[in-house]
Amino acid sequence: MSSANGRSNSLPHSWPKTADIVILGAGVMGASIAFHLAKRKAGKIVVIDKDHVGRGGSGRSSALIRMHYSFPPEVELALISLRMFQNWQEIVGQPGDFRKTGFVRIVHPNETARLKRNVEMQRQLGASVDLIDKHDLHELEPDWNVDEVELAAYEPDSGYGDGAGVAGDFLGAARDMGATYLSRTQATEFVVEAGHVCGVITDHGTISSPTVISATGPWTRPLLQKAGCDLPIECEYHQVAILRNAPGMQGGGCACIDSVTATYFRSDAHDKFLVGDFYGKRPIDPDDFPQRASDGSLEEIIERACRRVPKLAGAEVMRGVTGVYDMTPDSRPLLGEIPGIRGLYVCAGFSGMGFKISPAIGLVMSELVLDGNGRTVDISAFRPNRFADNQPIKAEYEYVDD
Ligand SMILES: Cc1cc2nc3c(=O)[nH]c(=O)nc-3n(C[C@H](O)[C@H](O)[C@H](O)COP(=O)(O)OP(=O)(O)OC[C@H]3O[C@@H](n4cnc5c(N)ncnc54)[C@H](O)[C@@H]3O)c2cc1C
Repeated sequence: MSSANGRSNSLPHSWPKTADIVILGAGVMGASIAFHLAKRKAGKIVVIDKDHVGRGGSGRSSALIRMHYSFPPEVELALISLRMFQNWQEIVGQPGDFRKTGFVRIVHPNETARLKRNVEMQRQLGASVDLIDKHDLHELEPDWNVDEVELAAYEPDSGYGDGAGVAGDFLGAARDMGATYLSRTQATEFVVEAGHVCGVITDHGTISSPTVISATGPWTRPLLQKAGCDLPIECEYHQVAILRNAPGMQGGGCACIDSVTATYFRSDAHDKFLVGDFYGKRPIDPDDFPQRASDGSLEEIIERACRRVPKLAGAEVMRGVTGVYDMTPDSRPLLGEIPGIRGLYVCAGFSGMGFKISPAIGLVMSELVLDGNGRTVDISAFRPNRFADNQPIKAEYEYVDD
């Protein structure tokens, strides 16, 4: 049964034996790629997912949206994506879940000079971002303890969204434009002949196709190993606490990434608060990880966040969210054709930051496949063989915890 929003199950009436493009994975990335390819009328597009749309990392995402990056192409991708989030109804045809709350980046005191450089670069690229001092920050967020903050970056237009919603909306729009979606269909191997992909073998049958895109998040490494390609993606376990606002806490405040406490946090609707951690345990099996966050870990994360937001000490923990990041050695994604296999592309390794750039990633991946390169943003630095070539990405003014 098909549905307009892409959120329901779908079993095919007839198996699609052939396709022009097969996309593996219906998270925010696979769905966004399908949307942009369908918009370009790229032929017969088939999206498959071993589970359901948005059931991977996308549906567990804290979904912060910010422009603050140290590597310029990431800022460009975030900016294009923000414009899409802001105009979701017009572009994707659904109301969307974007909430503009503002965003604050606090770095280690000894990295303030880098913060200034990065903000300068972001402004040059068109981001709306200001440097604010502790007095401005206190006025903006009176619940925060900002005594030690010399300068912070403030983005008034940023905020947060919803991962499952974005994946579902993109997939629904792609299907409305003719794309086929097969849930509970797992890619198991690739058909490769004379250095060119010819199709994908799934647990339900084979789909012949000259183009296959693996947008399979934490499951990417073992899958592409089947094609003889070993990409350095490691799975990392993360836990997030959802709290009810403590009495007297102002709701709906800015989202924040705070290097000093090594936490990120944001409001969740007007009455809740979400807190996450910078670091997690590796390796972890993406098919077998704790679904329930440990009380001790949540307490520890909240304790750190309390140093910034003291009122959180009295907040009730409503629930925890657990999930898996697909980490690469430079914490940046792998985007491009697999060396030695024409027509097989990877779009994975987003290292805990993919949600906010997913609308633009679908666009540049569609350009890569149809035009030979990312035209809107140059994504060549993200090529999948950069580690084998000993050329990881290092931004000019990178932070220690970037
Ligand atoms: C707890 C948490 C918090 C996060 N917070 C943020 C944040 O605040 N801001 C931000 O920008 N990003 C954040 N992220 C990261 C962001 O959510 C991810 O980078 C993004 O969702 C990745 O999307 P994806 O489509 O690549 O992967 P996924 O959503 O994991 O989708 C991959 C899909 O592939 C399918 N699949 C796998 N193997 C196969 C196969 N063999 N055949 C068919 N289908 C297959 C899976 O079922 C899955 O649906 C967070 C992530 C987590 C886990």
